[in-house]
Amino acid sequence: MAKTPITVAKGDGIGPEIMNATLNIILAAGAQLDIEEIEIGEKVYLKGNDAGIEPSAWDSLLRTKVFLKAPITTPQGGGYKSLNVTTRKTLGLYANVRPSVSYHPFVDTKHPVMDVVIVRENEEDTYAGIEYRQTDHVYQCLKLISRPGSEKIVRYAFEYAKHYGRKKVTCFVKDNIMKMTDGIFHKVFDEIATEYPDIVADHWIVDIGSAKLADTPENFDVIVMPNLYGDILSDVAAQIAGSVGLAGSANIGDHCAMFEAIHGSAPRRAGQNLANPSGLLLGAVQMLVHIGQGDIASKVHNAWLKTLEDGIHTYDIFKEGVSSKKVSTSDFAEAIIARIGQMPTKLKAAQYQAGQIGWKLGATAKSDYKADKKLHGVDIYLSWTKGSANDLGAALSKIQAGTVALTGISNRGVKVSPGGLKETFCSDHWRCRYLASDNGVANHKHIIDLLSSFDNSGFEVIKTENLYSFDGEVAYSTL
Ligand code: NAD
Repeated sequence: MAKTPITVAKGDGIGPEIMNATLNIILAAGAQLDIEEIEIGEKVYLKGNDAGIEPSAWDSLLRTKVFLKAPITTPQGGGYKSLNVTTRKTLGLYANVRPSVSYHPFVDTKHPVMDVVIVRENEEDTYAGIEYRQTDHVYQCLKLISRPGSEKIVRYAFEYAKHYGRKKVTCFVKDNIMKMTDGIFHKVFDEIATEYPDIVADHWIVDIGSAKLADTPENFDVIVMPNLYGDILSDVAAQIAGSVGLAGSANIGDHCAMFEAIHGSAPRRAGQNLANPSGLLLGAVQMLVHIGQGDIASKVHNAWLKTLEDGIHTYDIFKEGVSSKKVSTSDFAEAIIARIGQMPTKLKAAQYQAGQIGWKLGATAKSDYKADKKLHGVDIYLSWTKGSANDLGAALSKIQAGTVALTGISNRGVKVSPGGLKETFCSDHWRCRYLASDNGVANHKHIIDLLSSFDNSGFEVIKTENLYSFDGEVAYSTL
């Protein structure tokens, strides 16, 4: 079999130890790999590269398109960009697939029956990383959710479920509050679910959904969610299954893929040959499936399951009375290598097909629809501390452009004028809504005229947001 080129980074902290263990195991099982090593992480950051990755490393990643990555340490202090976020966005890795499985009775868990796969959107949401300090009091982070981004990840989740014979896909969002951003994610979920009649589609508001996931994970199968909820809940899912040290993850795009453990570089455990390499190993198993070496993936996965069953455990999952031997990282790897070819006797054996193309499903978004878009007005944001909400309302009601006039003011999302309560706390951050009368149409000249009047009246405008309708549907939240 021809060797598949892959790019490997050994990372920081426990990274080199768990990567060496992982590579030793998969190569011993017969993985056919042509390994290119790149350097990423702390040393690169400290050399002055704010992304933690050298430009030359991208050449390797773009050539091999497959990245097996150990965790890295992001140095403390400002100015360093998250390497993970950069890699995911640069390579278009839109789907983060995180299986969390419990290995009862061999690994201690409160949830003996758990086999959940979280499919996390990987590029959008608050992870666009667009943040501003706008006033003395207020900081802002933009949450961006797109229809194409939602279509890609939701379709991916259903395709994943179909491919792996899963029965149910659940969507977690908070669209009772974020009616537009989480709302479009939910809407797309409902639309795409109709194309998969054999898979049950289910939905929970993320707060109660999370509580149910933590309480009765056996009721969940595949869960799809936007980036931030997925980030948090995939750690929760891994931890309640047994340990964050046991979960691997795949980051999949249409052209490239990255495989890793979900945990970090655990600097306090570094250099002691103690860490559990299982998360990275299971990431590598996902990689082997992805590159068409499913038979090797099965061998590795089953030898690992047999090792767990035999009670040979690293410190993090070792438990007196359950485990038989506490081992180091390298001894754990040796124990797995010694079991290559063996099958687990109680835990469910892995069975990946040789040549299976894994999760490279070529999901495509279909969002080419163009709506009838009308401008109705503008929200003008001010930094202002010179009086009460009613004082501001009185001053701003004198400013108008054509029929575009003040309809109200809010402060941190609470309407404070007209008709505000004096009990409401007001920060220095005001949203002033100007709309064309009778739902009429505004134009950009109106906005420029308003801004000019604000400036002439001595108001400090910190941002504006245009107010549109799309196909007659109001496309901004109420004041
Ligand atoms: P961490 O995941 O490194 O450690 C959290 C806890 O889990 C620690 O108690 C640690 O001892 C334990 N742990 C983690 N992996 C383990 C393993 N394989 N075996 C045994 N125990 C394990 O999280 P942290 O301490 O918040 O972060 C440390 C560093 O890792 C930070 O610099 C952070 O930025 C980075 N980080 C990197 C990634 C990544 O590269 N993908 C992900 C998360 C955090």
